[in-house]
Amino acid sequence: MVESDVAMETFEAPTENVLAFIEGSDPVLKNEIVVVSSHYDHIGIDPLRDGDTINNGADDDGSGTVTTLEIAEAFMQAQRDGYGPRRSVLFLNVSGEEKGLLGSAYYADVEPTFPLDKTVTNLNIDMIGRYDPSHPTGSKNYVYIIGSNLISQELHDINVRLNEVTGTDLELDERYNSKDDPNRFYARSDHWNFGKHGVPFIFFFTGTHEDYHQPGDEAHKIEYDRMARIARLIFATAWQAANQDAPPVVSGKGFN
Ligand SMILES: [Zn+2]
Repeated sequence: MVESDVAMETFEAPTENVLAFIEGSDPVLKNEIVVVSSHYDHIGIDPLRDGDTINNGADDDGSGTVTTLEIAEAFMQAQRDGYGPRRSVLFLNVSGEEKGLLGSAYYADVEPTFPLDKTVTNLNIDMIGRYDPSHPTGSKNYVYIIGSNLISQELHDINVRLNEVTGTDLELDERYNSKDDPNRFYARSDHWNFGKHGVPFIFFFTGTHEDYHQPGDEAHKIEYDRMARIARLIFATAWQAANQDAPPVVSGKGFN
């Protein structure tokens, strides 16, 4: 017989999601929202370690937050030039992802700043800066696409088409795009909290690596050229979702 005592401590800690909003230019369509999301929290300092104790989180999810900012800057530039998006675009940097998707759950389940039934697309970016050593082709020019056709085949098709017509030409790898995949990446970042409400989403991700949740997740290891290409693809897909006459059609059963 084995006995053990488990001490569990729970505590409350304040935190905040950071939202930036560009109102759409169309008097009707502006009531519909495209959300670009990433998470700005990470796992902090590990005092039990020797040497470097700081978990920088450059890939997880510095890569997503800076990409979200770059996309926001491009949308703002377009608006200043008189070509603002017809639908509204919300740039949502959430906290608490590493503690169980808490920030996005708060947004989606407790206090959606904009109604979820008017939220037509979520493009979520979490870890797009590194190379997954298990990636089968050996090419670094890829991004994992997760979600997409689960809820909206049209959103999936938009992303595929724009990857071609813009010349971005990334390998869109769907090896994790399955509810049966044992890694369950479809449920492991903030898109989950939109997808569970039936909002079409795409999760952009380049996979885990030896520095995942380690102090070695540092900025100088980021593959910046490819990250910029992924950013341009996400921008293009967000742009299309925000500007076409009808939002991407909900055609799939989602997580059900
Ligand atoms: Zn993450």
